[in-house]
Amino acid sequence: MKFGIKNVVKIIANGLFPPRCRGCGASGEYLCDCCKKYISENMKARQVGNMSGGLTAEYLGFRDEILGELIEEAKYESVRGLLPEIAEVVYAGYFEKYVTENDVGSLILVPMPTSRQHVRERAIDHMNRIVLEIERLSDNKIQHTRLLERAKDTVQMGANVVLRKKQAKEAVKINPQFVSDDGKINLEYRSAKVVLIDDVWTTGSSLIEAGKILKEAGVKNLKLVAITKSRARRSPTLRHGEIY
Ligand SMILES: [Zn+2]
Repeated sequence: MKFGIKNVVKIIANGLFPPRCRGCGASGEYLCDCCKKYISENMKARQVGNMSGGLTAEYLGFRDEILGELIEEAKYESVRGLLPEIAEVVYAGYFEKYVTENDVGSLILVPMPTSRQHVRERAIDHMNRIVLEIERLSDNKIQHTRLLERAKDTVQMGANVVLRKKQAKEAVKINPQFVSDDGKINLEYRSAKVVLIDDVWTTGSSLIEAGKILKEAGVKNLKLVAITKSRARRSPTLRHGEIY
């Protein structure tokens, strides 16, 4: 660890106000080793049913479980220290198997881009940070690659599925640096194993529409992954001034 002024301040602050484990309440860390182990060992990827357009999607937990609570706190209360912890359990519980079961460098992990407004408000692009941390934990065998970027910078507000779908379709586009002369995605990504990851699946419209854009651009081997999912039949809820 480097002992820059920022780290010194952090060490002193942690000494005075040590964080508490969000799982068991033990003092010292945002998530103790025991709770990390519990979350990752109980993580089970489940397939989202009724997917169309040749897309497949998986989710790793529910929003009302601890993983969902960690994401909410990291996002809405800008608790940055939680992001590496979230990445660690998601890596151990899900992505580590890619590294051990597949050839090196075979997985391209794409973070769902966050709107610029949200990045400003939260002072962090949380999905980007989580994916960077997963890349680091994998010894770069999983490659953080921003194939998508925000197009129209609207914040998702639509209360009904039709409106959300329309907004989701306009929200992202292929990052121009990955577009080749034929207008499709660069050749190396057309046959690569690509995972597009987001934090929450509510109606799924953001991930599905972004997934379609990647497919249309030529990505053949694509999987959508949501870290958490709302329970079935949960109606949209007003939370932090936004409808989910
Ligand atoms: Zn704990």
